[in-house]
Amino acid sequence: MGLAMPVLARTERAAPAVKPKTTPAPRLKVIALDPGHGGADPGTTGATGMHEKTVVYAVATALERELSAGRRYRVALTRRGDLFVPLRERVARARAAKADLFISLHADAHPDHSVRGATVYTLSEAASDREAAALAAKENKADLLAGVDLRRHTDDVTSVLIELTQRGTINQSRSFAGIMVDALHRSGVATLPRSHRQAGFAVLTAPDMPAILLELGYLSNRADERLLLNRAHQQKLARAIAAAADRYFGTQPAAPVAPQGPGPAVKKA
Ligand code: ZN
Repeated sequence: MGLAMPVLARTERAAPAVKPKTTPAPRLKVIALDPGHGGADPGTTGATGMHEKTVVYAVATALERELSAGRRYRVALTRRGDLFVPLRERVARARAAKADLFISLHADAHPDHSVRGATVYTLSEAASDREAAALAAKENKADLLAGVDLRRHTDDVTSVLIELTQRGTINQSRSFAGIMVDALHRSGVATLPRSHRQAGFAVLTAPDMPAILLELGYLSNRADERLLLNRAHQQKLARAIAAAADRYFGTQPAAPVAPQGPGPAVKKA
């Protein structure tokens, strides 16, 4: 049969004159997931020799599946696989993906092996001020803040714009951190006593992208280490973080599509 078919010269095939019209889909919120460390940088090492980079990557991929499943988010990972990515490059990748939220995942260690529980970090005021000063001093100010071309403004105005944007971003980050702590508690995930803390983590410094760093637990603590290596617990963490994102964005999972017979329950992005 194939031989009788007319052969179309590939190069002469006419392109469709009019592009089919499609209604633009509403823009999905973009969440950047940042599994800490990777490659030559293993992060901290647990009592059984498990590396932080491996644990946080497992949780990041579980979380990616969780967030993608409801078709309400687009997920961007700052590293795909066991690779070393510098901290500023992670922020740059998330900003390039136009992330609405940045979640860095880590696991901690402490000389006191009884210390355990999760902690949520946002950028500290002092670190934020340092960043603002450094940013304002940068020669190339183009496209520094989402939607604002700073080249059109004087240095003074630029400083004020950066400060205002950053203030708003920090407030959003803190609000998300509060929601995150609550979601962890609701899921029965143990946290440190002061579960929302502030520090000068470099990955939290984007002026226009709300960001948290989540220490999922302590690899130096045997109970925490066992949990962090446990798939069910990794899944529990992923669900808690996804629930926090839903509350933060006020998003609901898309209505389930009518059943189409057996098939994969979860569509991989
Ligand atoms: Zn770490």
